[in-house]
Amino acid sequence: MSHLWHPRRIGWRLAMGFGLLVVLMLLVLVKANLQISHITGVTQRFATGDMQRLLRVQALSLQTEGVGGAMVRLMNAPRENRVAEYTDVDARNRRIDGIIESLGNDLLDEVQQTTLKRLVACRAIYADAFLATVDEIEANDLKAATRALNEQVNPALKAMLVESNALLQHERESIEEGLAQEQASFERLAFWITAISVLAVALAVWLGVRTTRSVVVPLAQLEAAARRIAKGDYTSRVPTTSAEEVDRVGQALNTMTDAVAQREQQIVRLAYHDPLTGLPNRTALLTPPGAPVAPPRYLALLDLARLKVINETLGYGTGDTLIQEMAQRTDAVFQAAAQQGLIAPGPVVARLSGGTFAAGFNAPDRGAVLALHALLDQAMAAPVACSGHSVDISVAYGFADSAVNGAALPVNTLMRNAEVALHSAKRAAKGFAWYSEAQEAARVSHLSLVSDLRVAVANSQLQMWLQPKFSLKTGLAVGAEALVRWQHPTRGFVSPAEFVPFAEQTGYISMVTTWMLEQALRTLAAWAPSHPELSIAVNMSTRDLLDPTFCQRVRTLIDTHGVNPQCLRLEIVESGLMDDPQTSVAVLHALRDMGIKLSIDDFGTGYSSLAYLQKLPVSELKIDRSFIDGVDGLPGTQRLVKTMIEMGHGMGLMVTAEGVETEAEKETITRLGCDVMQGYLGSRPLHGAALQAWFEALKPAVS
Ligand code: C2E
Ligand code: CA
Ligand code: CA
Repeated sequence: MSHLWHPRRIGWRLAMGFGLLVVLMLLVLVKANLQISHITGVTQRFATGDMQRLLRVQALSLQTEGVGGAMVRLMNAPRENRVAEYTDVDARNRRIDGIIESLGNDLLDEVQQTTLKRLVACRAIYADAFLATVDEIEANDLKAATRALNEQVNPALKAMLVESNALLQHERESIEEGLAQEQASFERLAFWITAISVLAVALAVWLGVRTTRSVVVPLAQLEAAARRIAKGDYTSRVPTTSAEEVDRVGQALNTMTDAVAQREQQIVRLAYHDPLTGLPNRTALLTPPGAPVAPPRYLALLDLARLKVINETLGYGTGDTLIQEMAQRTDAVFQAAAQQGLIAPGPVVARLSGGTFAAGFNAPDRGAVLALHALLDQAMAAPVACSGHSVDISVAYGFADSAVNGAALPVNTLMRNAEVALHSAKRAAKGFAWYSEAQEAARVSHLSLVSDLRVAVANSQLQMWLQPKFSLKTGLAVGAEALVRWQHPTRGFVSPAEFVPFAEQTGYISMVTTWMLEQALRTLAAWAPSHPELSIAVNMSTRDLLDPTFCQRVRTLIDTHGVNPQCLRLEIVESGLMDDPQTSVAVLHALRDMGIKLSIDDFGTGYSSLAYLQKLPVSELKIDRSFIDGVDGLPGTQRLVKTMIEMGHGMGLMVTAEGVETEAEKETITRLGCDVMQGYLGSRPLHGAALQAWFEALKPAVS
């Protein structure tokens, strides 16, 4: 029953209410109908029974009265007319008897029965008296007949009339009584019908009001709740109401609210959090959600080196583990430093991208930041265990200070400054740098410097230095890398690390490349007679790769100097290929088709994939010197270098280690299978007399 009976459902209430109304109306109809048929019955009875009877009783009285008159006429009639008078009297007598008989068959209540019996008795007396009177009339004794009429017939007839009138009276009364009863019952019915109708109307009104209220009020509550949800208030619930249907909508709304709130939380988490490390992301750092916060005084950028090559050689899982580990260590150092009071509470450590992290924090002074840096370095020292082997973490740090020139800087300016600092940190050996105005000034001055480059090329302020490369198998020189030097007339020696990036930005670098190619080819031409096996590698810029005339210029230069193109190498930085891979690859193929050999420079620091490098027509892989620095003491890095070498060999490439400074490093890379070394251990870059001396000391080529 319980599953059928749902008093809280609006539908049920409506059904019940209207059902009740219909029942009441039916009741009224049935009652009225019954009454109408009853009245019809009563009317019929009245017309066919009561009324007839009344008429008969009335006729009885009339006949009884009439028979007296007829008797008088009989007596007084002459003998020859008596037959007609007899007939009249007899007819009246018969009519009286007929009425009495029919009344006896009909009706009657007890009172009428007894009255009728008395009437019958009187009739018998009248019959005797009548016969006696008739006898006297026939005997022509009028005196005796009159006496008999007066003394016997008339009293009998009077007695009959009395009884007949009593019958009549009683009959009238009973009819009136019946009518009064019917009247009363009719009035009762009218009362009932009125009462039921009033009840039904009241019920209908009550039901209408209740139903309307039970729908309208909860609906208004639902509407209000929906508006609150639309405004982002997910805490308020839709209250339960007395209407089940509305309740269900309300519950659905509550469920929806929870889901929306949950999803919004998820969206906020996704928008402001890095899923890999669980740290806040760049957005959270630059534009934190919620109330605006004061920008931090210090911003540190931490960059995990070699992430790409780790991903490529040891797998993305290892790369991810490394990032997670670095995130965890960095965050732990900052939280601990805040707890110990080294820096202010509430530092925000965020992951920006790849292996780059940023931390915004407040600290009393730069000394505290330096102490923090030492702690970070310590934390990063231990290698990370990744699926059975250990990998070293190598991090570069860039720091920016907001309060250098008094006014606090917005966080995105701080971030840009820290990026500049990180950039120079990557070039500096210590892997750590503060952003300084001087750096910015240097940037600007470098840009102005670049405009002097044109003059430099024309006025022979540039020099080509050569750094020899040695085979690790034979120990013999295999060639050299050409490195540009600039003797600025007023600034003195300018490092290529300082001006090359800016020359690349402005496009002047192609002048430098052409100039260096010219020098290299001239040198090769001079070396060729005694040492045709030696090659010279010239560094190419990304700009050159995108220059459609480059190949033609190289060919012209080679032809001009009559050099075997096999002796020329061109070094490209892998990241340089990514700007416009299609054009770059086409240029590389054209160069290779000319017979020129190509090398990938600074391998392991860029972002291109090994699978992609495999498609390039290169013949040498130069492992960046950051991998070689201290490799003998870093088993994790050794693994990495070994894999890189194996992969290079797998692709048929010669593998060169850059920046070899110690015997231990050399011994290690030799053991790992490296082919060629370049570095201060073998030789510093040479120029002029020193270069000449080196060349002359070379053993003659074994050909
Ligand atoms: P790079 O191509 O990787 O050149 C190697 C750099 O490593 C040179 O610095 C060289 O002096 C330095 N190096 C060699 N052995 C060692 C060592 O054992 N230890 C250490 N710590 N360093 C060593 P350099 O000459 O200052 O050149 C810096 C960068 O400037 C080059 O890096 C190259 O990217 C760019 N560059 C140099 N010359 C040219 C050029 O003619 N054209 C272009 N486009 N870029 C050039
Ligand atoms: Ca190079
Ligand atoms: Ca290099």
